[in-house]
Amino acid sequence: MANTLPDLLAAGPDSAPALEAPDAPALPRGALRRHARDVVGTLNRHGIGRGDRVAIVLPNGPAMAAAFLGVAAGAAAAPLNPAYRAAEFAFYLEDLDARALIAAAGDDGPARAAAAERGIPVLELAPDRAAAGLFALSGAAAPAPALRPGPAAAGDAALVLHTSGTTSRPKRVPLTHANLCASARNIDAALALGAADRCLNVMPLFHIHGLIASVLASLAAGGAVVCAPGFNALRFFAWLKGCRPTWYTAVPTMHQAILARAARNADAAANAGLRFIRSSSAALAPQTMRALEAAFRAPVIESYGMTEACHQMTSNPLPPRARKPGTVGLAAGPEVAAMREDGSLAAPGETAEIVIRGANVTSGYENNPRANAEAFRGGWFRTGDEGRFDAEGYLTISGRIKEIINRGGEKIGPREVDEALLEHPAVAQAVAFALPHDKLGEDVAAAVVPRAGGAPSERELRAFVGARLAAFKVPRRIVFLEEIPKGPTGKVRRIGLAKTLGLAP
Ligand code: AMP
Repeated sequence: MANTLPDLLAAGPDSAPALEAPDAPALPRGALRRHARDVVGTLNRHGIGRGDRVAIVLPNGPAMAAAFLGVAAGAAAAPLNPAYRAAEFAFYLEDLDARALIAAAGDDGPARAAAAERGIPVLELAPDRAAAGLFALSGAAAPAPALRPGPAAAGDAALVLHTSGTTSRPKRVPLTHANLCASARNIDAALALGAADRCLNVMPLFHIHGLIASVLASLAAGGAVVCAPGFNALRFFAWLKGCRPTWYTAVPTMHQAILARAARNADAAANAGLRFIRSSSAALAPQTMRALEAAFRAPVIESYGMTEACHQMTSNPLPPRARKPGTVGLAAGPEVAAMREDGSLAAPGETAEIVIRGANVTSGYENNPRANAEAFRGGWFRTGDEGRFDAEGYLTISGRIKEIINRGGEKIGPREVDEALLEHPAVAQAVAFALPHDKLGEDVAAAVVPRAGGAPSERELRAFVGARLAAFKVPRRIVFLEEIPKGPTGKVRRIGLAKTLGLAP
C-alpha cells in the first residue's frame, strides 16, 4: 500500500496516460515519474529538501498539477491562489516560511514582488510543450545543497494549505504523504475509480478538492486527469467532446453554470458518456442535482470534504446503492459522527457537531496550540459543521458553528475582512457576515459603523478592501449602522446577522 506520493506514482505501466490537457499530448506515467524525480533533484540542488516549504503560484492547468506532484515528492508543496493581493502573498510566504517560490516564467505579479521583498528565491517555471505537465525550473543556485535530499517519507508534510476560521488569520494545515494517500484511496473506493477513468479537472489546483479528488485520486487508481486551464462554462462542452473524460468534480456554482448552457449543448451532454458527476465543497441543491442527472444521463454523487480531512469525509454511494438528494451521503473513509456539547456522541436523528477521525485527517494545525485545543476533542476532530445522521447513516448538514463564509465553495474568514475594513480611517467598527445568495449559497456582506464625522461610501470601502484582499473576499454589500446588533450575551453574532439586519428571509 502506497504511503508516499513517489510510491503512489510508482505503480502502473510506463505507457499509461497520467496527465492530459485539452491542448497538449498526454504525459504517460513513466514520464511523470521521471519528471517528479527531476523536480526533486532540481529542488535539492537549490538547497531545498524534505520538510521545506515551497510556495507555488501558477495558473491552473497540467503544469500546476505536475508542480504539486514533483514538489511534494521531495519537499512540501504550498500552492497559493494566484488572485491574492500583495498583502496576502506577504502573509502566506511569511507564515509558511517558504524556502522558494515557484512562479511562471515572465510572471512579475505581486507574489514575486512579495518573495523579492523577503529575500525568498524564485524558481521560474517554463512549460515544455512536448507533453502536458512537463516543465523546466530555473533560478539562482543556492549556496549549499539540501540538508535532507531525496524522496519524501510517509510522515513528511506533502502539502501545506491554509484554512480560514474563527481567528483573524488563516490557520496552517500540514497534510502528510500518509494523509494524502489515505484520502486518495478513500475517494477511489467511493467512486470505484480505475485505470480506465479519466477525470476532467476544472477545480482550482490551489484548493484541496481539485488536488486530491481530481489529481491524486485519479493517479492513485491508475487513471488519468485532464487538466483544464480553469473553469470555463463556455468551453466545458468542447472539452467533454475532445477529451472524453469519464467523470468530473466541481462545486455547485460550477454545476449551475454548466447547466445554464446544457440546453444549447443537449446532445453533447447526453452523449458525453460520463460514468458519474461529483459535487463537493458546498451544498448542492436537489433541483441542481436532478437537472444535472437529466442533462448528462449520469448519477450525481454529492460528497462532503474539508481541507483538514485532506478533502473527502462522506460521500453518496454509486448506484445501485441509493444516493439521497440533500444529504452528503455516508462516511467514506474516516469515521464520522455527531458530537453533543458534552462530548458524547449523538444518536441518529439528533443534530450536533460533525466530528471525524481517521488516517486522512491532519494531526493538527501547525504552531497553533490554541486552535488545536479547540479543534480536537477525545481524539475526534471537530469540523465546525452541524448535522444529523439518518437511520441508514446518511448525513445531512444542517448548519455551521464556525464563522466561515462559504461563497460557492470559496471560503472566507470574516475576521480577515473585518480587519481590512478597520484599516480605513473612517471605519470605527466592522463585522463581515454571510449574506444568503441564490447561486453562490452565500456571499460576503459587512456591517460598518463609521467614525464620528466620517461618511465613507460603500464604493470607496469596497475599493479599499479590494486593494488588500482578493476579489472574492470583497463584501458585495456594505450596510452602515450606528451600532452593530448584539446577541443575548452582548457579543456580536455573525451567524444570523443577515437575518437580524433584515437582509435575509
Ligand atoms: P474546505 O476546507 O474549503 O474544503 O471547506 C470545508 C467546508 O466546506 C466544510 O467544513 C463545510 O462547511 C463545507 N462543505 C464541504 N462540502 C460540503 C457539502 N457537500 N455540503 C455543504 N457544505 C460542504
